[in-house]
Amino acid sequence: MTEQGDQRDRRDRDQRDQRDHKGRTRSGARGAGGPRRVYSGQRPSERSRTADAPRLAAYTVLREVADGGYANLALPRLLREQQLHGRDAAFATELTYGTLRWRGFYDAVIARSTERPLDQVDPAVLDTLRLGAHQVLAMRVPVHAAVSETVGLARMVNGAGASGFVNAVLRKVSESSREEWLDRVGADDTAPDHLAARWSHPEWIVRALRGALIGHGVATGADVDAQLVRLLEADNTPAEVSLVARPGLATVAELVDLGAVASEVSPIGATLPSGDPGELPPVRRGRAAVQDAGSQLLPLVLAAAPVEDPREHEGWLDLCAGPGGKAGVLAGLSLERGATLIANEVSRHRAELVQATVREAVERGADVEVQVGDGRHVGEDEPGVYDRVLVDAPCTGLGALRRRPDARWRRESGDVPVLASLQRELLNSALDATRPGGVVGYATCSPHLNETEYVVKDVLKHRDDASWLDARPVLAEVAPGVEVAGEGPALQLWPHQHGTDAMYLALLRKH
Ligand code: SAM
Repeated sequence: MTEQGDQRDRRDRDQRDQRDHKGRTRSGARGAGGPRRVYSGQRPSERSRTADAPRLAAYTVLREVADGGYANLALPRLLREQQLHGRDAAFATELTYGTLRWRGFYDAVIARSTERPLDQVDPAVLDTLRLGAHQVLAMRVPVHAAVSETVGLARMVNGAGASGFVNAVLRKVSESSREEWLDRVGADDTAPDHLAARWSHPEWIVRALRGALIGHGVATGADVDAQLVRLLEADNTPAEVSLVARPGLATVAELVDLGAVASEVSPIGATLPSGDPGELPPVRRGRAAVQDAGSQLLPLVLAAAPVEDPREHEGWLDLCAGPGGKAGVLAGLSLERGATLIANEVSRHRAELVQATVREAVERGADVEVQVGDGRHVGEDEPGVYDRVLVDAPCTGLGALRRRPDARWRRESGDVPVLASLQRELLNSALDATRPGGVVGYATCSPHLNETEYVVKDVLKHRDDASWLDARPVLAEVAPGVEVAGEGPALQLWPHQHGTDAMYLALLRKH
């Protein structure tokens, strides 16, 4: 789902040059240049009372996201319902995702363009203003069209009174270029609140990422600010479409023959420069799939980690398997290695997704069972059973912000301790379920220290039957070209260094 959103982002960028409808132009890059004033030649009574369908669709998605919805689910549904295709669909997509991704920056711009504090602006009107700001500052829409169409939208969805306010604020916004605004809201490039506004992240996430860069040994006090900016920038850059050739089911060469480019990070990965991955025959069959290259490495490292007293037929457990990306790789590997894989997931719906993911491997003889259950109880129910256990724990997802433009605004700092407590329970259960000499891989798609290092250290502090295993030599064996900074023993990947999500993996030996 998330990666499909990224493809869409990329397609939008490709198509941006070709728009010509309702003020959308074939040329006229935004961003450079000085102030651009906007004056409407129309009297208010003559101006449009309707909104065009793509803008209305984008507004509707923003409102659904504000109510807890997901943009990558709401937008395709609306495009379908409103029968928006081609340029209109591309325009709505760019407007929706661009506005969501840069929301923090636009809020800082809007706050400086109105006398009213933002928390006193009706949230629905604020969404309209954000859409207007994105058109004015980031899209190739003539400024007068961006303003008048957004005012028309406001009149329709927010009321006549609000439309005057929207008009006044957007005129103010359009008096400076994007670069001028970026300089103004992010004048101090080390202060977390300025970085947050400049790079459109919640401030608590900026602080957490800064701590993670230092804590994982990637940055020092001297270069952390420069690294942080690169990381924030990478978060705002839509990810490439990354494919996995599931081991034993497909090969990278097969994907390359179909137009993909072999990954420099994952030995089973490739990126697809253009086209719809869903159309590729190996993807349609479930022999290959869309998956981040960092995510691909984790099951490879777990499967390659040394176990003591190896058994001919190993038992593997994926404790938190839904929707099945890593289980798909493990299932392929289990086929090659004659291992048995149990893929556990607490949500029935997500367990069904896992089932679909492993179907092709099972049809080819892989011994895989998908079960629905709370992973916290597996260790008690099946103590000392498995040779290798993956805990891909539920987490804040701060390492995958580039994939979902709305994700950063959904999370709150208060989520971290709640998740960290669940993560400890799941890791303890995984260790209980592992046989002596076996290995546990604890993974998150977040580099937050409270979800990674501190969870593992805390769990180990309270047990005497487990210890760290150095994951770096195992990574060097699996993916020789990939360098990870830091002292280890865990691995931490980064979007700005590896072009992957910020995946974390700790390997633990059970005694
Ligand atoms: N490994 C998956 C993949 O590669 O596609 C991603 C796993 S996702 C980060 C975490 C998963 O843990 C979610 O599917 C969530 O439903 C599941 N989960 C949450 N609490 C759980 C629990 N108590 N027991 C088992 N699974 C749980």
